Amino acid sequence: MQNSETTNKTESNEKDTSQDLVSMSAHQLRTSLSAVKWILKMLIDKDAGPLTLEQENLLGKAYESNERMISLVGDMLNISKLEDIENSYHFEKQDISPLVESVLFEFMSETKKRGIELIFLKATSSLPEVSIDGNKMRIVLENLIENAIKYSDDDDKIFVSISTYEDNLIVSVKDNGIGIPDEVQGKIFTKFYRAPNAASKISVGSGLGLFSAKKIVERHSGKIWFENSPHGVTFYFTIPTE
Ligand code: ADP
Repeated sequence: MQNSETTNKTESNEKDTSQDLVSMSAHQLRTSLSAVKWILKMLIDKDAGPLTLEQENLLGKAYESNERMISLVGDMLNISKLEDIENSYHFEKQDISPLVESVLFEFMSETKKRGIELIFLKATSSLPEVSIDGNKMRIVLENLIENAIKYSDDDDKIFVSISTYEDNLIVSVKDNGIGIPDEVQGKIFTKFYRAPNAASKISVGSGLGLFSAKKIVERHSGKIWFENSPHGVTFYFTIPTE
């Protein structure tokens, strides 16, 4: 019979192995999907010769689908990093605005393609520096902004803002998209959960983005929540300034 220490060690080794497997597979998948991406891009850019309209449309669909898979694999990689949570944070005092701007920049070509306006409402006064792990905070911002884009219609507007309230910074991401149905509001920060209206708009998704965002925000002693409005949803999160 195993004693409890041996059992715990075995369980923890099994967990490590399965995490390694997820992380290794995700890396492999990402490499292959990136190769597919560049081949599709070359074809779409007509580097391999002219295309009929139908071929161009089909390749465009394949490209978008591949992009969604890349994002899914990105979520898998993030989650496998987060499982090894406690020691992997490196906090540094910094102004969060450049980080927000750099994340907005990442999404520029996608929003341009879809006619979406991504508007950063900068604070009028200077913001206090906050102690954050920049790489982890980037994951939070990427997930919230990516969702706002995904669940919006073409030509919509998305507003990102940072303000201060008492001893906190409040970051918000507001969209005019599909919103979150009342009956599922308690579930959306749960691992793998996707609301039916989201799944029918975009079939590929991991349901890991908000789960990761919540873990990261809470590790920064902040809170994350959302409010529905008649059109769309606003996500908020706080970071303590002291
Ligand atoms: P994914 O977007 O991959 O499905 P997330 O964990 O990022 O997973 O989000 C979980 C669920 O929360 C989504 O499937 C969707 O139902 C809902 N959701 C998140 N952000 C938005 C948004 N901006 N508008 C509408 N629904 C959203």
